[in-house]
Amino acid sequence: MRENLERIKKRIADAATGCGRDPECVRLVAVSKTVDADRVAEAIDSGAVILGENYIQEARDKFNTLYDRPVQWHFIGHLQSNKAKYAVRMFDLIHSVDSLKLARALDKEARKNDKVQEILIQVNISQEETKSGIEETGAVDLITQISRLENVRVKGLMTMPPFFDAPEQARPFFRQLARLRDRIVDRNVPGVSMDELSMGMTGDFEVAINEGATLVRIGTAIFGARQ
Ligand SMILES: *Cc1c(COP(=O)(O)O)cnc(C)c1O
Repeated sequence: MRENLERIKKRIADAATGCGRDPECVRLVAVSKTVDADRVAEAIDSGAVILGENYIQEARDKFNTLYDRPVQWHFIGHLQSNKAKYAVRMFDLIHSVDSLKLARALDKEARKNDKVQEILIQVNISQEETKSGIEETGAVDLITQISRLENVRVKGLMTMPPFFDAPEQARPFFRQLARLRDRIVDRNVPGVSMDELSMGMTGDFEVAINEGATLVRIGTAIFGARQ
């Protein structure tokens, strides 16, 4: 595990320097879905500083065991509004907000917890019907509406391109998300920052870094293939 993590960190740093970016600007989210608490603990001991979880119940089980470890918890899966309460308690950053309804539920729970919940807006760049995420054309409106909520804070965008065998094929989708980010920056929506671009997984993270990713979400290359 330590070797896997070190190898990935090196590849992240190389990809960043290779395109003239500061390696410090790209953070690794170790995607620990389906991985049990013992192995997640091992990953933390081996240098993982951000964990990415997809399912609330599964995350709760691990969080209850590992909550005092020096690690950030990010939620990257599809989130239902009725689970907002658990999400707000556990997660430092929620990558997958794609509706006003969900943002409102998070805002309400965050207020109860005296917290400002940081979120990313998930954009369905590829317009695949099976994928979560707001369509690109609706993103600016959604972000403007969410910006009026006091206890959630938009920090950037997230996307998941279609699966390709060749990572280069994902490039246009990453580039399109970066362009959308630029357009939102130009809008200057009060309270909204576009610091983070969450894009890139095991198969394509180097291309994503090349196109401006600040958070790469990597599971298989760290923990091995999932069942
Ligand atoms: C599972 C998952 C990942 C990690 O995928 P790998 O190919 O195992 O690196 C990244 N992002 C999301 C949203 C995921 O569900």
